Amino acid sequence: MKKFACTAIIIFSLISLAGTALAWHDKTHLAVAKVAKYRMWYNAAGPDIAKIKAGDVEGYNHWYNNNWKSEVIPQTVTSQINRYNKANVLLDIDGHLYGAIIASLREYEASLASGKYGEYHLVYCAHYIGDLSMPLHNVPYDDYNKNHHSVNDGIVDQEVLEHPEKIERHMYRITLRDNSFENDLIREIVRIANISRLLGYKMQAENRNMTPEEAYIQLGHSASLLKAVLQHYKKL
Ligand SMILES: [Zn+2]
Repeated sequence: MKKFACTAIIIFSLISLAGTALAWHDKTHLAVAKVAKYRMWYNAAGPDIAKIKAGDVEGYNHWYNNNWKSEVIPQTVTSQINRYNKANVLLDIDGHLYGAIIASLREYEASLASGKYGEYHLVYCAHYIGDLSMPLHNVPYDDYNKNHHSVNDGIVDQEVLEHPEKIERHMYRITLRDNSFENDLIREIVRIANISRLLGYKMQAENRNMTPEEAYIQLGHSASLLKAVLQHYKKL
């Protein structure tokens, strides 16, 4: 009986750790895709809409809670790729945002190769690249995260679409070589994930929200990476 109670407590805490974080609000996702010059920018919030019907099957693609606060390394990304579109609350309590970026592009390429319409896979990728720079999608979903999540999701949402220049001034060139595209992309996901999680820890240590300036710097990382991905696929 005691053993059962212990197991139940462990399972319950794992499930509550998984959480259901939201994401940058809609206009913020749209703005990232728009400044990256993605022609289908107006769909970039769609993957959040998919969550209300697909539930955790889609939800786990949007965050990596990094419950052990570990440095993100290439292996962190590659180990998540085959978890795309799966929701195993016991084996995948951290979520798999980083792997979802790679997996959605693999599905995009597979669709193109088979002559199907693949664009929506690229839309998913554009959204996940947006989530990558949201600090609270890269840190444990603890009380601080729960209490501060929604306000930080919307920190610049009211004005961002009218002020693309506020993201553009933080954009920079990212090179993803055609002959090592996936490895280069993994390297960039790792780099941005670590920047984002460290900002998340800083905000938590100071018990505060992001400043608008910090948010725009973060969005600049997402927009720069999305632009590099679009360049690779000759979408610009
Ligand atoms: Zn999202």
